[in-house]
Formats: sequence, structure tokens, C-alpha cells
Amino acid sequence: MTDQQQKKILLAHGGGGSLTSALIDKHIVPRFGNDKLCQLTDAAEITLDSRTVCFTTDSFVVKPLFFNGGDIGKLAICGTVNDLAVAGAKPVALSLSLIIEEGLDFELFEKILQSAADTVNAAGIEIVTGDTKVVESGAADGIFINTAGIGTKPKSGNLSFNKIKPGDKIIINGTLGDHGMTIISQREGIKFDSPLKSDCACLNGLIADIMAVSPDIKFMRDPTRGGVAATLNEIATASNCSIELRETDLPINPTVRAAAEMLGFDLLDIANEGKVVIVAGAGSADAIVSACKKHPLGKDACILGTVLDGEDDPIVELVTKIGGRRIVQMPYGRELPRIC
Ligand code: MG
Repeated sequence: MTDQQQKKILLAHGGGGSLTSALIDKHIVPRFGNDKLCQLTDAAEITLDSRTVCFTTDSFVVKPLFFNGGDIGKLAICGTVNDLAVAGAKPVALSLSLIIEEGLDFELFEKILQSAADTVNAAGIEIVTGDTKVVESGAADGIFINTAGIGTKPKSGNLSFNKIKPGDKIIINGTLGDHGMTIISQREGIKFDSPLKSDCACLNGLIADIMAVSPDIKFMRDPTRGGVAATLNEIATASNCSIELRETDLPINPTVRAAAEMLGFDLLDIANEGKVVIVAGAGSADAIVSACKKHPLGKDACILGTVLDGEDDPIVELVTKIGGRRIVQMPYGRELPRIC
């Protein structure tokens, strides 16, 4: 990186990889650091009148605004609902804040809002507050959306990196990289015989089902920017445990695989918007996979990997098809800007 670049924010600072982590750890956390923010969970737990509430926020700048399987309105609801759900919370209410570029067609604006409305209704929650701002033409890119959300947390649903132990299993509810490859293929203007479709979906229903079948869920995270590679590296670092994946076990849609090979992407690095990575005790892994498979958003659920002793140098490792081993690195973040 040149000296000039180090003085400026790069697009890759928003990519969800090691540059995003550096931005947060070096510039943000030290200024606002408190015991809740420092945990860098998907949603923060706060106590209000002795009741535990989860609180989260997320901004959406996806380009293009409309893609197969969703749009910025649907994504803005799903992203925040999922950050609450993976924290073990029941989402209750959301805010919706719109930054609109002068000149956006009312027809597109209505379509995005209707999509957001349909998504909150289907998820069984409400938008209870919001804001609208308009900026000059050229000062935004159509529309940017911020949502924040709150949810209630059952006393039993305590999830933490600290609970993760060697022998635990890593489970995912379906195929890797569908959202990211859909967006990038659409941007590149590449078409496939069977079209790519984003997995963008609200996971609160699925997660409630799996929490009902297993009291032994240790941790959950939605592998969005930076993909499964970023999520597993975060889990390995925070738990001081290593993780082993088997290439033959990775669930991948054949068209998504073809797109990734053609464009030179590793699907472990690619964003998902309807997936949850679950770490659970080995004894309950099969029950969690079965519960996922009963839900429409978990048909392709599988055990993705195993937690191993980190021996003070935790890594994520992939056992390849031919039995070789390679380290799965934390992605840098340059891969796919404005994916969500
Ligand atoms: Mg998240």
C-alpha cells in the first residue's frame, strides 16, 4: 500500500475483511470502547429495567439496487433482523432511515419501500421509527438505507465465543456465496443458463426452530461481507480454537461454483445474506441439521467443519479434495465492494 493510500479510506475498508477490522480496531473502538462495544458482536446486549434487550444497526449501500432474489429494501430488513437473530434475540422493532439522491425515480422508490414492507410483514416485526434525508444529485448513488433493530433475549439463550471447545461442530444452513456471486455477475453483465439468485432472507424463523431443538448452541454469526472465511477466522481468533473444514463437505450451488471459477473468486470469501454459521456441541449437531432441513431456508444444511485445539496459534484450515491442507485466510476486503 502506498503512503498516499494510507492517508485515505479505501473501498476495501468496507469489504468486511482485515482492512475493515483494522478500521474498527484502530480508529473506532479505542474512542468509544466499553465492555459492550469491545465484544464486536452482531448485536449488543443491554439491560433495561432488568430485562435483556439486543440492539444493532446496519447501513446498506448495495450496487445495483435491484438484483435477482432481492433489492436494497429487502436486504436492509433482512440484514438487521439476522444480526438480532444470530445473537439469540427475538427481533421486535426496526428503524428505517433513508438517504435519497435527488433524481431517484418515484417508481423505484416505491418498489424499494414496498419490498421492505413485505419483508418486515413476513418476518413478523414492525418498523416503528425512521428518517428521510435527500442529498444533491451525485452525492449518493440512488438510495442508501440504514436500519437499526431491537429484540428481546431469553435468559437461556446465552451465546459466547467462550463456550466454544475442541470437538464442537460448525454447521451452516445452506450453500456458500449465492448473494455475492449474484451481485458481481450482475455488475459484470454475465448471464448463466440457470440464473444466479441471492439467498437474501430473514433467518429469525429458522433460528427460533434450531434454538428450540438444541440447548447446546455455543455461538452463531451470519457470514455476510468476507463470507464464511471471515466468520470462521473471527470465531477462531476469539475462541482461541482452530477450525478444520473439508472441501468435499462445502455446500455449493453448481452455477455459483461456475461463476466463481470464471471470475476467479474463492467462495469461502464471498458474502451470503441468508446464511447462519452455528457452532454447537457435537452431540446436538445432527439434530440442528435436521431442524434446518425441515425449514425452507435450511434445505441444504450440513456440518461444515470441526473445532480443534488452537494450541495458542488458532487457524482455519481446509482439507482439499486430494487430501492437501491449506490455510483459509481472513480476506483482505478488496474482493467485492458494495455487496450489501
Ligand atoms: Mg452480522
